[in-house]
Amino acid sequence: MIDIGIIWTCKGCEYELFRFEKVGQDYYGVRTPQEIMSYHGNKCPRCGRQLEMPTIFSIQIARKKRKTLDYELI
Ligand SMILES: [Zn+2]
Repeated sequence: MIDIGIIWTCKGCEYELFRFEKVGQDYYGVRTPQEIMSYHGNKCPRCGRQLEMPTIFSIQIARKKRKTLDYELI
């Protein structure tokens, strides 16, 4: 079984805004983009860039590494 996650990063500084992690059959902690944006006050907490709705360019699919809890981009 492959654990994958979806990572939404800021386009300005690549700060990780949100990560969706798949746990078993369910996605844990899924929020809508609007909820995530309002949680951050509609701007990146690191660089202050105005957040936009995530696109294919700001979403990255990551695969969980076997021995660590880190993710590597695939
Ligand atoms: Zn940023």
